Amino acid sequence: MTDTLLADSPVTRTDWTRAEIAALFELPFDELMFRAQTVHRAHHAAGEVQLCTLLSIKTGGCPEDCGYCSQSAHADTGLQAEKLMEVDEVLAAAAAAKASGSQRFCMGAAWRNPKDRDMDAVVEMVAGVKAMGLETCMTLGMLEPHQAERLAEAGLDYYNHNIDTSPENYGNVITTRTFEDRLDTLDHVRAAGINVCCGGIVGMGETRADRVGFIHALATLPRHPESVPVNALVPVKGTVLGNMLADTPLAKIDDIEFVRTVAVARITMPMSMVRLSAGRESMSEATQPCASWRARTASSLATSC
Ligand code: SF4
Repeated sequence: MTDTLLADSPVTRTDWTRAEIAALFELPFDELMFRAQTVHRAHHAAGEVQLCTLLSIKTGGCPEDCGYCSQSAHADTGLQAEKLMEVDEVLAAAAAAKASGSQRFCMGAAWRNPKDRDMDAVVEMVAGVKAMGLETCMTLGMLEPHQAERLAEAGLDYYNHNIDTSPENYGNVITTRTFEDRLDTLDHVRAAGINVCCGGIVGMGETRADRVGFIHALATLPRHPESVPVNALVPVKGTVLGNMLADTPLAKIDDIEFVRTVAVARITMPMSMVRLSAGRESMSEATQPCASWRARTASSLATSC
């Protein structure tokens, strides 16, 4: 079944209230796990794994100030800014990913938004990767409607654009754009007919109410994202949040609360592929099986554009 068909299922609700979502977070842990597992098995093949490869096609020097990101020009991580990769380099990397078993190839650029002068190369990358028989995904920052349409015409399957956190907490994480800016790009992507990959990061010093608000914002979109990556912050020294968490280690989200967040995403967006991405590696081996019912993926997003 395609993601598009899944998103049209009548069991998908988009009228969740914050109180309902908060009540799910409050469930006894075993009850929450049972409900998440039940929803997952009703709509997804148990144990299915999708292999994705992510390539940074333009690294560093991003003008945005996302507090978690080492690619921001506002961070002091020593990362060298690079220019956009050549098309043939990207296609060679995609071919290697396919040869090693990947089904989806994701291309990410550290931009606030692509310039129109970059679009010819980007579109060529999408068409070339698609022609190899791989699913295509891109994350390039904010898009104008005409840019989304060009990507759709080139065969782009997915666009990743995360809301990151709750609307209320957004300004504590990023100041160079607004939550509404994100929603505008998601609208443009949807209008162009591209599948949406949209999630965020927990463990950024937010409250549980923010985690409720984050899930609520996703689960009440006019149509649920086909992919919902839920990341736990991997603190990087030199970033605003990495430095903050280095000074206050107790601010790190505990594994059980992270699993609760993924479980609530699973229940409220039953058809979406809920992806446990960054943060998976830092989860203890004892905890990882608790989230075995999310759609497993071998990718991990280096940024959250
Ligand atoms: S997450 Fe994306 S938009 Fe934000 S600073 Fe990093 S590269 Fe730029």
